[in-house]
Amino acid sequence: MSNPFENALRQLRKAGEVMGKDSEELIEKLSKAEKEITVNIPVKMDDGSVRFFEGYRVQHNNDRGPYKGGIRFHPQADLNEVRALALWMTMKTAVAGIAMGGGKGGVVVDPRSLSKTELERLSRRFVRALQHDLGPQIDVPAPDVNTTPEIMVWMVDEYAKLKGDTTGATFTGKPIAKGGSEGRDSATGMGGFYVFEAVREEANLPEKVRVAVQGMGNVGGFAAKIFFKNGHTIVAMSDSKTAIYKEDGLDPNEVEAYKAEKGSLSGFPEAKEISNAELLELSVDVLIPAALENQITEDNAARLEAKLVLELANGPTTPEADEILFEKGIYVVPDILANAGGVVVSSFEWEQNLADEHWTPEVVQEKLKEIMVREARAVWKKADELNQPLRIGAFVIALERLGKAAKKDL
Ligand code: NAD
Repeated sequence: MSNPFENALRQLRKAGEVMGKDSEELIEKLSKAEKEITVNIPVKMDDGSVRFFEGYRVQHNNDRGPYKGGIRFHPQADLNEVRALALWMTMKTAVAGIAMGGGKGGVVVDPRSLSKTELERLSRRFVRALQHDLGPQIDVPAPDVNTTPEIMVWMVDEYAKLKGDTTGATFTGKPIAKGGSEGRDSATGMGGFYVFEAVREEANLPEKVRVAVQGMGNVGGFAAKIFFKNGHTIVAMSDSKTAIYKEDGLDPNEVEAYKAEKGSLSGFPEAKEISNAELLELSVDVLIPAALENQITEDNAARLEAKLVLELANGPTTPEADEILFEKGIYVVPDILANAGGVVVSSFEWEQNLADEHWTPEVVQEKLKEIMVREARAVWKKADELNQPLRIGAFVIALERLGKAAKKDL
């Protein structure tokens, strides 16, 4: 399995090579996080015993605003993964042009192995361990894999108790009733859809496309429903265990309801069960990886038949696979652009909390669309000018913005 941080560094350095000598200092600086925190979190279990969980917060860069990025609960979370995700957050907030920096957190835990009360204690304890390094103007976490709006409520509450902060602006991705923004739950999928619409014609795709979606959590689930609602055909969907395929299209609402009832996608009526690996190789217009890193690699890239890969997961494509796909003429809309909708609406939530406002769903959608369409066009144009993949176009735009904002008090 390739190391996501190595992959992130290779992307960064490749963009640096394209930009030339003047970018050397910036690339060196961004090759390391400004601060990395590792914590050992004690949690009292329901049976009275105490277990310890390792947690991380990587604060990569805050030249453009407070560190910003989700917290992941996953048994395979590790520091290199969190480092990669933090670096990508710095690039993502810069590509989106929002006044925030990049950070990421992770806890090594399988949340399904904990009771709800244990999960709450872990979430609160994590905040306690990091309390001096968080805050609306310091570092603003959000949900990521296996972390939910409910977990954000526990975290906000713990932070308020410890630090007296009543704004709620230290965490985004909260439920609407608890200071969350309209449109945050669907923001990553929605943002990805706006990006797709902005590049569809340039990518020579038909008006209505056939789509395969890997992963049906927060991001993949909303993405599938949004594409479906807009008249596109969802031919395949998957979760961590299996995938289903239906030539004339699935209704993602029905698929979600079926999974909620049966606990699995197996046996979904009139659909063929396939593997996650087969899903990636389907002949579709748009492939949406929306699960985890390292899904499209040198082992399967040559077999991909999609015309466009819309990376809603972070880091789903390795650098080796990127080269193969570029040679094959498959467009890869990079994560730092395609899934930026989540952090964009998170920044709206933060702004609303600090100003004590609540924007309507229409205002949120309009602002999100404006940013995603504008930046998607800018990335396309930059990649075109440089004759480079879209990922390099996006990195170069981010690096130009980061270069202008770099701290000068050295
Ligand atoms: P989630 O926990 O809600 O869902 C993850 C999904 O991936 C689940 O459906 C799970 O079954 C599936 N999955 C896990 N392992 C898999 C595997 N090996 N093969 C296929 N499917 C697998 O998480 P999420 O918030 O939807 O995040 C998904 C991805 O999107 C991650 O890469 C995350 O970093 C990225 N992302 C999330 C947000 C956000 O706002 N939540 C924003 C930007 C990017």
